[in-house]
Amino acid sequence: MKAATERPLGHYVQVAGAVKRYGECAALGGVDFEVDPGQFLVLLGPSGSGKSTLVRSLAGIERLDGGQVRLSGQLASAGSRHLAPERRNLAMVFQDYALWPHLTVLGNVGYALRRRRLDSAVARERVHAALERVGLAGHAERYPHELSGGEQQRVALARAVVAQPQLLLFDEPLSNLDADLRERLRVEIATLTRESGATAVYITHDQSEAFALADKIGVLNKGKLIQLAGPEEVYRQPATLFVARFTGVAGELPGRVVHPDAEYSHLRIGDLVIRARTIGPVRGGEAVRLLIRPAATRIAPAPDGTDQPAANLLHGEVIDVAYRGRGYDHVIAAGPHLISAVHDAQAHPRGERVTVNLDPDHCLAYAADAAEDASGNGYANNLTTVTMNGAVQLTADMASEPARSSL
Ligand code: ADP
Repeated sequence: MKAATERPLGHYVQVAGAVKRYGECAALGGVDFEVDPGQFLVLLGPSGSGKSTLVRSLAGIERLDGGQVRLSGQLASAGSRHLAPERRNLAMVFQDYALWPHLTVLGNVGYALRRRRLDSAVARERVHAALERVGLAGHAERYPHELSGGEQQRVALARAVVAQPQLLLFDEPLSNLDADLRERLRVEIATLTRESGATAVYITHDQSEAFALADKIGVLNKGKLIQLAGPEEVYRQPATLFVARFTGVAGELPGRVVHPDAEYSHLRIGDLVIRARTIGPVRGGEAVRLLIRPAATRIAPAPDGTDQPAANLLHGEVIDVAYRGRGYDHVIAAGPHLISAVHDAQAHPRGERVTVNLDPDHCLAYAADAAEDASGNGYANNLTTVTMNGAVQLTADMASEPARSSL
C-alpha cells in the first residue's frame, strides 16, 4: 500500500442553499452543510426525505435547481454550471452494487483505473491490492452472478477506493444484506474509507448504522436538514422531537413542568415526579412531552423500603421480554404507558411487577407545543386522552438503541 501522504487530501465539500424540485415536490428545500476533508458524514432520514437526491446532486448525476456545490473550492454545481460526474474525482457505492455483469471482478475493479493513464503494472498492482484488502483476491476471475450479495458489495467497495478518489458517496450500501453481514461490511466500509483519506457522505434510514459510522450526522426530513452534529450531540441533545423520535425512543409520556431549569427540570407525569433534561425553553406549569431514550432505562433492584429515591422511578408490569444475547430487553406497562427496550442482564418474566429507574441524562423534555415541529409528526395536544397505544412508538427501529456498546 502506498503511503497516505502521496494521496490528494479528501474533498472539502460545501453545499449552500441546495434546492431540487420534481414538479410540485421540493425534494430539497434549501440545504446547507459542509464536510471537512477526510470527515465521514452520514445523512440520516426517513424514506422520501431527500437523501438520494442530495447524494446524487453531489455526484453530479442530478442537477440542482438552486444553490451551489463546491468541491475543494471548485464550483461543481451552480446555475447553469455543472461539472460532469467523472470530473468531480469521486466514486459512489450503490445499494444494488451496480457492477458490470459482463466484466469479471478484476475487470470491474480495473475499469475504475482506465481513465487514470497509469502504467499497466502499477494499475495491476493497485487492483490486486484493493481486492486483497476486501478479501476477494481469490475471486478475481469470477463474474458478479457467481458472487454472493456481500461479495458483490465488496467488489463495489474495492472499485470505489482503487482510484483513490477525494470523495466517497454511499447510497444505502448495506440495505440489501443480511444482518450479520451488514455489521461486518459496515466495519470494512469504516476502516477502508478512513484509511483512504477520502471524505465520505453516506446515506441511510437506519439510525444504528448512522451512529456507528459517522463523525457527523445530518438528520434530514422533508428536504430540510434539521440537525447537523456529532453522534453524541444528536443522541444527547436532539434538536427537535422529530430528531429524537427518529434516533430511538423507548417511550413517550405527557406531563407538566413543576420546577423549570435551564438544563434539568422536574416534571409531573401523572402521580410521578421525573427529572429530565429540558431541550429548549419551558415554563413552570407548561405541558411537555417526555421522551425516554433506551439508554435511560434500567430495572431497579426490588425496593427494600429504605434507600429508594422518590424521583425517576416508574412502577410497572413486564408485558414482553426478548433475549438479546447480552441480556434481555423488556416492555413494561406503567399505567397507560409502555416503555420498551428496558435492558437487564437477567430476564424478568411476563406479569412480574418491576421498578424502572430513569437516568435524567437520557430523559428529554420538549414543550408540548413543539410537537408540531418541522417533521409534521405532531401529536394531539389533548394530553389527557393519550392511550396505551397512542403514548408510545414501538416499531423495531424506535425500540432498538443505536450502538449501545459505543455510546
Ligand atoms: P430518500 O432518498 O430520502 O428516500 P429521495 O431523494 O429519493 O428521498 O426523494 C425525495 C422526494 O423527491 C420524494 O418525495 C420523492 O418521491 C421525490 N423524487 C425523487 N426522485 C424523483 C423523480 N425522479 N421524479 C419525481 N419525484 C422524485
